[in-house]
Amino acid sequence: MRFEPSTHHSIHRPGACGDRRIEDRLARWAWFLPLLTAFLVGCACSTNDVDGELSGPGREGAPQLTVILVSLDGFRWDYPDRGVTPSLERLIAEGVRAVALVPSFTTKTFPNHYTLVTGLYPDHHGIVANNFWDPVIGERFSVYDRDKVRDARWWGGEPVWLAAERAGLTTAPMFWPGSEAPIGGLHASHWLPYDGTMFNDSRVDWVLSLLDLPLDQRPVFLTLYFSDADDAGHAKGPDSDAMDLAIQEVDQAVGRLLAGIDARDLWNLVNIIVVSDHGMIPVREDQVVFLDDYIDLSTVDVADWNPVAAVWPGPGDEESVYEALSAAHPRMKVYRRGEFPAHLHYGTSQRVAPVTAVADPGWSITSRSYFNETPERFSGGSHGFDSAAGDMHGIFIAAGPAFRPGMRTEAIENIHVYSLIMEILGLPPAPSDGSLEAVGQMLSW
Ligand code: AMP
Ligand code: ZN
Ligand code: ZN
Repeated sequence: MRFEPSTHHSIHRPGACGDRRIEDRLARWAWFLPLLTAFLVGCACSTNDVDGELSGPGREGAPQLTVILVSLDGFRWDYPDRGVTPSLERLIAEGVRAVALVPSFTTKTFPNHYTLVTGLYPDHHGIVANNFWDPVIGERFSVYDRDKVRDARWWGGEPVWLAAERAGLTTAPMFWPGSEAPIGGLHASHWLPYDGTMFNDSRVDWVLSLLDLPLDQRPVFLTLYFSDADDAGHAKGPDSDAMDLAIQEVDQAVGRLLAGIDARDLWNLVNIIVVSDHGMIPVREDQVVFLDDYIDLSTVDVADWNPVAAVWPGPGDEESVYEALSAAHPRMKVYRRGEFPAHLHYGTSQRVAPVTAVADPGWSITSRSYFNETPERFSGGSHGFDSAAGDMHGIFIAAGPAFRPGMRTEAIENIHVYSLIMEILGLPPAPSDGSLEAVGQMLSW
């Protein structure tokens, strides 16, 4: 699908129907209310008549805004500057772009997706890695274990969709980590079992079809997920031609979504927030640390390997394993649980291993046998490293009536996105690690 900038509608700004700033003025000029109300009712709201509007708590009288949260897995902060993303460029021109979205540690898919919808660091929501051991449950969580992914015991905090559904709103968190589990005893009104083979266009069309529902049934929080950029980044590295093609593919999917909003004339209600969970850095077969060069792997359990090795020593062995690994390799940092650097906000959860080894960006951790079986896994690209590394940073781009047009901000931490979404939806946020103050300047009210 080709991008045709000239055919796109521009995003409606507050000032059309449903302006919350108008609402504020109403409060101050109460005597003027009947006149203004008459004016607003007469205002042309096209197909999205906000009669019978839905209102979140604290926003009585304002139309219920919608948020579509779009995740481009592994989309590094600087990819939008490659000149191959016209759809993102349109959103940037009409809305807000942060220099980068700083992920949380570990910089992997599940921890960060769940941080985005809870405002909690992985250490606090419990999905501390893509794969981890829980000593109380006595089992290992893995993103590839469908039963675990669907089991609410693993998922802490209260994701956006749960709060919204409890408030009587409808949500559709498609393919979002956590959406398959009945967290807090509830599923979202609309969700789908993860299917990595579903075409991107079909994913977009699923979301658009839900926007065609009558206003009182229409979801106000929807998500989309595209993995192509992560797949290409792992296989070929972030500097490859394959990477550029994948970037274009996911941009086209975003373009299909924007065209769908245009066609439905929904820009007075719909906000699109495009994020990524982490970035990507090239890795090489000659930059690998082998754990079995330093410890006997038969005496430990390793719940996750690369580039963050979660090592569970046998009883009484913690200190000797830590000693053996701590100065083993100049490109590997080793932390005891509870002794991580403060900026990682990691190590209070019982799911964090007693000894964790973190490769420097661009390096890998494995065993000799695994490397010999699958050496190709140690070239291309990787992520998971220290969240302070620039190459691990993702994107934040947002547009719609809630966002100030043409706004640019510094890098923001991904713990704040939750507060932003709750504010736009008009829902009271649960206590979280983020805050609205950190990102509120991008809002149009
Ligand atoms: P990562 O390497 O951490 O970026 O993980 C990316 C992989 O996570 C994708 O290629 C998918 O296989 C998997 N994945 C992403 N979202 C989901 C989901 N909602 N359910 C199950 N697996 C997922
Ligand atoms: Zn990812
Ligand atoms: Zn990945």
